[in-house]
Amino acid sequence: MTHLNELTIAAARDALRAGETSAVDLTMACLSAIDAGDWLNAFVHKTPEIALDMARAADARIKAGNAPDMCGIPLGIKDLFCTKGVESQAASNILKGFKPEYESTVTTQLFNAGAVMLGKLNMDEFAMGSSNETSCYGNAINPWKVDDRQLTPGGSSGGSAAAVAADLCLAATGTDTGGSIRQPAAFTGIVGIKPTYGRVSRWGVVAFASSLDQAGPMTKSVRDAAIMLGAMCGHDPKDSTSADLAVPDFEAALTGDIRGKKIGIPREYRMDGMPAEIAKLWDDGAAMLKDAGAEIVDISLPHTKYALPAYYVIAPAEASSNLARYDGVRYGHRANLKAGDGITEMYEKTRAEGFGYEVQRRIMVGTYVLSAGFYDAYYNRARRVRALIKRDFDNVFAAGVDAILTPATPSAAFGLGEMANADPVQMYLNDVFTVTVNLAGLPGISVPVGQDAQGLPLGLQLIGKPWDEAGLLNHAYVLEQAAGFVAKAEKWW
Ligand code: GLN
Repeated sequence: MTHLNELTIAAARDALRAGETSAVDLTMACLSAIDAGDWLNAFVHKTPEIALDMARAADARIKAGNAPDMCGIPLGIKDLFCTKGVESQAASNILKGFKPEYESTVTTQLFNAGAVMLGKLNMDEFAMGSSNETSCYGNAINPWKVDDRQLTPGGSSGGSAAAVAADLCLAATGTDTGGSIRQPAAFTGIVGIKPTYGRVSRWGVVAFASSLDQAGPMTKSVRDAAIMLGAMCGHDPKDSTSADLAVPDFEAALTGDIRGKKIGIPREYRMDGMPAEIAKLWDDGAAMLKDAGAEIVDISLPHTKYALPAYYVIAPAEASSNLARYDGVRYGHRANLKAGDGITEMYEKTRAEGFGYEVQRRIMVGTYVLSAGFYDAYYNRARRVRALIKRDFDNVFAAGVDAILTPATPSAAFGLGEMANADPVQMYLNDVFTVTVNLAGLPGISVPVGQDAQGLPLGLQLIGKPWDEAGLLNHAYVLEQAAGFVAKAEKWW
């Protein structure tokens, strides 16, 4: 029997409309799954009273008829989103106890549509990381495991991925600056989409690297991603980079027909040392799209090899500027000072105590690449590389390619501590297939397609044309149906 917390958004919506279940029952099923799954350290603030109030209101709306698709759907919210009156700490000690006075646009839209907030989800501190191990709450755990080896759920949206994969909620919000939705989705066997830059408002989402950050849904199916994305996006005058474009009906775009579409396979992504399992998964995915009537074409994105270095200059540069506001005066934590300490000591002690190592490393790298003597050599050069990467994609799409297929990650989920204790560059290499998409501002989606020899999920990434989330979701839908990935993490806790 399927428990209510195991439902997809689409199935729950249909059951709610048919009167077969209620938002309160769905919410209670999720709340007890969350308690049973405490082990996973996915939820860092639980909000059961708020959830039940919201669920009761949703039930009244559903009864009245014409409720939106998301009405009564219990969600987890990444800790990076400001939620009014509810702790929003970006998994950082520097924001300890911070309860925003306002609600982010994304959560406002979801809650206006009747979605239910179950609580806030674990993540890497300020979304910097690929394993959830930089969180001030300690890492979330991947519900998939091999024997007794515990794995990371990926990051930075690791709590979101773990919670969705373990059925603690029906879906979750994530954010993606360099892969933070797509990589954890791939590590946990779920779907995650990063929309085109500007599709979803960044207002009220704690800023990491403002020219790269986008929020998106993390869900159990492509259909759910289409439904939830529809409720998250739209023009927001409060975010000057938010696009004033109509929101298509993404679910209606899932026709399953991709005949005659051109799928590009970028040769530069076939990296040296790519594990045979990943190479095979990629070939299998291309064959599935071909069987569905698409044409597979070899393409070149010549500047790919510069993407990771450019990202790891631009993202820290923007982060160092965005994080300057955490000064011990306006938000969260302030260090205990001793007599005679002045304002400089206050800043220094507060920031040394409040930020974890990875965040401090990014602030230092970012400050360095922006400093007067090095600005041209690093920051400006990275910006020029970024323009070339974008042009590579423009050229391919101008030549008639509809979507691009790549692996989502270079490996399946890795073990806790395995990368965090190594050279930080090892961790950064995880983002090799995802950062190009953020640098170019494109939409990208990760779809679970297969499993490795140990049974762990593996995902493929599809990259779409700017603003073509509808087409991208349809390609992803075809891939999902053909792959028939149904494996679930065993509920071992
Ligand atoms: N792993 C990348 C980083 O650490 C991406 C993070 C993200 O997308 N937020 O910067």
